[in-house]
Amino acid sequence: MSASPRADGQPAGGGRGTPPHHRRRYDVIVVGAGLSGTLVAKRLGDQGWRVLVLEAGTGTLDTWPGHLDAMNTYYAAAAKVPNSPYRPNAAAPSPDVLDLAGLPDGGFRASGYFVQNGALPYGSDYLRANGGTVMHWLGLTPRMHPEDFAVRRTFGYGRDWPLGYADLESHYRAAERQLGVAGDAQEQSEAIGLPFPEGYVYPMHRIPRSYLDDVVAAKIDGVPVQESADSPGTTLRVVTTPHARNSVPDARYDGGRGYRPAGAAGLPNYGERCVGNASCVPICPVQAKYNPLKTQATWDSRVTLVTRAVVSRVLADGNGRAIGVEYQAYDDPAAPVHTTHTAEADIVVLAAHAIENAKLLLVSGLAGHSGQVGRNLMDHPVLLTWGLMKHPVGPFRGPASTSGVESFRTGPARKRRAPFRIEIANWGWGWPAASPGSDVARLLGITGDSGQPRGRGVFGEELRRRLGGGIGRQFSLQFELEQEAEGRNRVTIDPRHRDRLGNPRPVITYDLSDRVKRGMAAAKAVSDRVFGLLEAEDRTVYGPGPFSPGHFRFEGQDFAFNGAGHGAGTHLMGDSRDSSVVDHWQRCWDHPNLYAVGCGSMPSVGTSNPSLTMAALALRSSERIHRDLTELHRPVTVRTGGGDRTAASRVPGPAPSPHSHPQQEVRP
Ligand SMILES: Cc1cc2nc3c(=O)[nH]c(=O)nc-3n(C[C@H](O)[C@H](O)[C@H](O)COP(=O)(O)OP(=O)(O)OC[C@H]3O[C@@H](n4cnc5c(N)ncnc54)[C@H](O)[C@@H]3O)c2cc1C
Ligand code: SF4
Repeated sequence: MSASPRADGQPAGGGRGTPPHHRRRYDVIVVGAGLSGTLVAKRLGDQGWRVLVLEAGTGTLDTWPGHLDAMNTYYAAAAKVPNSPYRPNAAAPSPDVLDLAGLPDGGFRASGYFVQNGALPYGSDYLRANGGTVMHWLGLTPRMHPEDFAVRRTFGYGRDWPLGYADLESHYRAAERQLGVAGDAQEQSEAIGLPFPEGYVYPMHRIPRSYLDDVVAAKIDGVPVQESADSPGTTLRVVTTPHARNSVPDARYDGGRGYRPAGAAGLPNYGERCVGNASCVPICPVQAKYNPLKTQATWDSRVTLVTRAVVSRVLADGNGRAIGVEYQAYDDPAAPVHTTHTAEADIVVLAAHAIENAKLLLVSGLAGHSGQVGRNLMDHPVLLTWGLMKHPVGPFRGPASTSGVESFRTGPARKRRAPFRIEIANWGWGWPAASPGSDVARLLGITGDSGQPRGRGVFGEELRRRLGGGIGRQFSLQFELEQEAEGRNRVTIDPRHRDRLGNPRPVITYDLSDRVKRGMAAAKAVSDRVFGLLEAEDRTVYGPGPFSPGHFRFEGQDFAFNGAGHGAGTHLMGDSRDSSVVDHWQRCWDHPNLYAVGCGSMPSVGTSNPSLTMAALALRSSERIHRDLTELHRPVTVRTGGGDRTAASRVPGPAPSPHSHPQQEVRP
């Protein structure tokens, strides 16, 4: 795929013992080849800088055979959860949603990579493999709303951003190009109030609404809803969601130049259209859904990717400047024997995910002035409601969600309760009840849930009839709530808890505030109203039990929430070094050449799925890093006894031009 020098276990080019990453000095080291790291490397490589990307996971997904292996692993997995296609890696372990189990009388038990000691579980996972968590994301890419950036000033809670929507707008467009977003800008503008430049269209036409979306819209569009007597009320409306998923390119895009969708990694002419396989999470069989490997395929040859390289520490000098990283190289993910190396660069960019970035800063003892590293961990807590429609609605086709209801994202109700967006779920009870597998098992009588002994279920025509009658009518709603920054929700490290390479495992303390819980109560009330309008049979139950680790009671009612996978806030940005970890460029206040990029920088997450905003921020940071490097390497005039001569501004340092930058030896 890529023309870049690459290394996966046995690094290409140098051979065993002398891999290229052991003897080079780079302009930039990027830690992590997920979405944010891949975009930073893309931008800086294109600008001529030598970039070393160190990736903890393996690079097996980069080729088509590797992708097929992941597909087969997924097919064989008993539980179809986000990490099920990806082989476990003892050197770079990932958290898994199966690590959590609810207890019979409430509360939860956690095993696996995270150490959890909060009142409620942090229920989100991520993936440590080349491409990162986006390899198993859903691919929804809405923008944040302008009011999401100033929640403290406007509504009196959480943290404000040091920048606003207008500062990010052009970067949103750049991210939408890079990810190949399909959407309807006019609809987003009318229904949600998102400002776009006059005449803007997304690279591709919106993903068509599902049949279920149409059924719901026919019943709820235009219906007024008032949460309480003193609230202004809002109107229900089904709105399509922007997706990073290939649809039909819009010929009007880019001033009429159009857009060419990116195909699969390792098979570029494949996957240029979403064909409705309906397994986007955890894996798109044709790779119509965006993943960072598509961008990596366009990296400049100055970008070097080294997989199976777990960064264990950021190295800094006595003046607070980052000088490079220490990393552990391994061959076998099952038996991680490793060797330790260092690499040096002018700028270090942490792009290892919100939780891993915080962990690396903590273990390195860096960026600590504000005391905020690891704090303010956020997610979008998800409340699910599910039911049966009167008639079949055709679930389990196409992306998990094509449309949503955006009416509760904004407005003065935020003063009281968390806002939320509603995803209309096309995958029946897939999330709340592991359907359709659980339905088949129940009807076959192999789970015990049916009340029948094993092997005494229904078979043949009766099985087909009952499956068709039930599954075809399933639908669910996913309410994603804004969680505000709270210092008590945090990632820490503890020397007693380490992984197989001896690196600390994240210790998570997590809870939901009353404003989030009030948001959930409001969400459930909206669900009740919508179910009533749809004349649907509500099957939602929130009791404690093994499948409800997120169960809690609030004001006399049972609830259960899930994680959305949207970890954020752990190195948040602000306008003061006393209260935030990074500035508005995602540059550590305490270390001018150390950046921490990703959702960890977000001071608030609004209600939109965060990765498009994260991508926009990463592209914005790349501009600043380019400026930093250009200033660092700018030729200056030095007066000497023998007259003027030109030298690099940084001494000692590489040659002035990024394009003629000589490689230096790095201590092996
Ligand atoms: C099930 C699920 C569905 C989601 N759906 C959506 C969605 O629809 N829309 C949306 O906006 N967001 C979605 N998200 C969130 C999205 O996936 C994340 O916001 C995004 O992946 C974060 O990108 P990142 O680059 O910061 O981190 P990651 O994607 O996690 O990448 C980090 C990379 O760093 C590597 N790494 C980690 N530690 C080290 C180390 N010590 N040394 C070297 N490398 C390291 C990892 O292996 C990984 O490759 C979803 C998440 C999940 C779990
Ligand atoms: S619906 Fe299917 S083809 Fe489309 S993105 Fe999802 S998995 Fe891929």
